[in-house]
Amino acid sequence: MINIPSKKTILITAGPTVEPIDPVRFLSNRSTGEMGFALAKAAKRRGYKVVLVSGPTYLTPPKGVKFVRVKRALCMKREAFRFFSRAGCVIMAAAVSDFRPAAVSKTKIKKSSRGALCLRLAKNPDILASMGRKKGRRLLVGFSLETDRPIAHAREKLKSKNLDMIVVNKAGKGLDPFGPGAKDVVVIDRSGRIKPVKSAPKSRIAGLILDHIETL
Ligand code: C5P
Repeated sequence: MINIPSKKTILITAGPTVEPIDPVRFLSNRSTGEMGFALAKAAKRRGYKVVLVSGPTYLTPPKGVKFVRVKRALCMKREAFRFFSRAGCVIMAAAVSDFRPAAVSKTKIKKSSRGALCLRLAKNPDILASMGRKKGRRLLVGFSLETDRPIAHAREKLKSKNLDMIVVNKAGKGLDPFGPGAKDVVVIDRSGRIKPVKSAPKSRIAGLILDHIETL
């Protein structure tokens, strides 16, 4: 195991964000938080100080980790930036909703007599991209999930968001990147090195990601 100064802080985001429509409904995605929580556990075990900012999940945060629970992307951005300045490394494993309802109804929206309800969406800020613009000497790691051309899209995100590394997931027919179990991922770093990881549990993927970060 590599010896890391204990003062180093890793900021990790996890889980989905949940964007309210009205007091009982929301927009979200299928992220479970497994990957981010596995990373937090592995990083803690290696002696890092860990801050875990997570959207709603059923998981228990690892012991000794500073845990911040959020719901909306806007809150995730605020909380993540609260810890950004003290972090030497940021791993954005959260599946941040790209859109949120433009207006949140204070009361439950009733079934209207019309056949359809039109929901206007506003774009959420891209937290990782704004960190990329302010990254300084930090290591910045992102995740990417796509249904088509995952490697090409991930390469593009690595560049446009100014990342040091990106972890690629593919979703679609016969593929389930969410939740526990053995998964396939591909790690790409800023020098273009590509490392495919086949059929590994997220605890192992977390270890491999940290190993790779430590070489950067
Ligand atoms: O562009 P895309 O959403 O696919 O990028 C995925 C990466 O960007 C993930 O690391 C995710 O945590 C981050 N992200 C973000 N804020 C958003 C959308 C994505 O930080 N609004």
